[in-house]
Parts: sequence; structure tokens; C-alpha cells
Amino acid sequence: MKKIAMLLAALLLMTTVFAACGGKEDTSSAASTASTASTESTASTADSGDNTLTMATNAFFEPYEYYEGDEIVGIDAEVGKAIADKLGMDFEISDVDFEAIIANVQSGKADMGMAGMTVTEDRKKNVNFSQSYATGIQVVIVPEGSEIASIDDLEGKKIGVQQGTTGDLYCSDTPENGGFGEENVTRYNKGSDAVMALLSGKVDCVVIDNEPAKAFVAANEGLVILDTAYAEEEYAICIAKDNEELLEKVDKALGELIEDGTVQKIVDKYITAE
Ligand code: GLN
Repeated sequence: MKKIAMLLAALLLMTTVFAACGGKEDTSSAASTASTASTESTASTADSGDNTLTMATNAFFEPYEYYEGDEIVGIDAEVGKAIADKLGMDFEISDVDFEAIIANVQSGKADMGMAGMTVTEDRKKNVNFSQSYATGIQVVIVPEGSEIASIDDLEGKKIGVQQGTTGDLYCSDTPENGGFGEENVTRYNKGSDAVMALLSGKVDCVVIDNEPAKAFVAANEGLVILDTAYAEEEYAICIAKDNEELLEKVDKALGELIEDGTVQKIVDKYITAE
């Protein structure tokens, strides 16, 4: 019961939270883009209007996108490639900070953004979204034996999040709005950095999407995921507002890949049903 109430509360809050945080991610993202992983070579590819579909992502979000050696693999990487194949285009992935993805798409450095990205009202002001291809749930990772047993116990605790994600937006909001206050939240560029901070005791918990949470817990001893969900979300592909033609093409290709079971096949390859 409590779980459902919490979920409903969180869902209700989503609109207000995103409205309240309007623009925040975009201003800071511009600053962090240039100096980090975004490379000039991929930028020119997207700009030159050649036959390459460029996808901006943040490749530390297993099983949606992560490195296997030098290669970025995962659900988004494969669905993106399948879309490019369907459109008869070459495919390229650029790895940038999560917060920089929308700015990269807006500026044309990348044609689309795909990063387990949740559709929010606030992001919809800056980019268009395709239909949804997956759902995510915000969960809480704690060390084994932690005194944190439910969402309510997060009050006054040090919370680690990935900067600019929905987990960040929910948690950083004021208590009146269902958050825990910005002063209790530490933001990291990558989910993996937040988990490292948890392992070294710098934060008491990490709020992040369920599938990456499972991957982090599987890869690191001594961590567990609380049995309480924070909010349920839809993942979709973002494309620049002024690129409706591409949105239409990508959305149609994605629709066909969902319809013919390709997307499910890719998901099943990376996520084994419990
Ligand atoms: N789904 C979350 C969001 O869109 C997190 C995505 C991510 O960290 N790659 O904010």
C-alpha cells in the first residue's frame, strides 16, 4: 500500500518537479559538454549532413549503454543501430555526459539522443521524443545492513545521484514536493561514480534507474536494492525540435522494430527475466 501511495505521489509530483527545474540541466550541460567526451570528429559527421545517424549517449548505464573493451554496446546501442540499418544509414555513437545529451542534439552535434532517457515535460520543451521503447523505475541502492529500509528513511541521509537525471530531479526537490532537499544530494557525472561514492561511504544511498542498479549491485559486493520503487518512467529517443523529418523517420523505424519483435529480442539479450 505504502509503495503504491509513494509511487502515485512521485508520479503526481513529476510534472511539478520538472516544471520547477526548468532549464537547469541545459545551462549546466553546455558547460560540461565541450571539455568532456564529446569529440570533434563525431560533431562534424552529424553536421556534414552525410548518411550517418549519430547517437549521443552516456555509456555508463548498463545494460542500455556501456563499454565492452573500446566498443559501446547495450540495448540503446543495438536499437539505435537497428534504426540506422532500417533507414539505410551508417551509425555512430558519441559518448558525452548525460547532462550534455540534449544540448548535443539541439546543436546538431548528434542527430538523436538515446540513453535510457526518460520522457519528461521539462525535456519536451527542448527536444521532441519518439514513442517509448522501454520503461524504467527509480530505485534506491544501499549497503547491505543499511538502516535505510524505505523511501521515508532517506530523509536527512546523504543521497548520491547521477547529475541531471530524473533521480537527481526527484531527490533534489524540496521535502514539500516529495524530495529530500538539494543539500542532501551529491551529484556525480556517471552512475558508476555515484556507486563508487556509496562503496566508499561518501553517500548513504544512490537513487538510479532499476536496470543499471541491478548491474551495479551484481558487479559490486555488499550492495542491495531496496524493495521500494520511487517512480515509473518511459524511455524514448530525443531529436531536435527543428528536425521533424528525422523524428518521423526514426519514430516509424522504431515502431516497426517494436512491432516485429526486434526491440524485444534486443531487450531479452541484455535483460534476463526473473
Ligand atoms: N532515466 C533517467 C533519466 O532520464 C536516467 C538516464 C541515465 O542516467 N542515462 O534521467
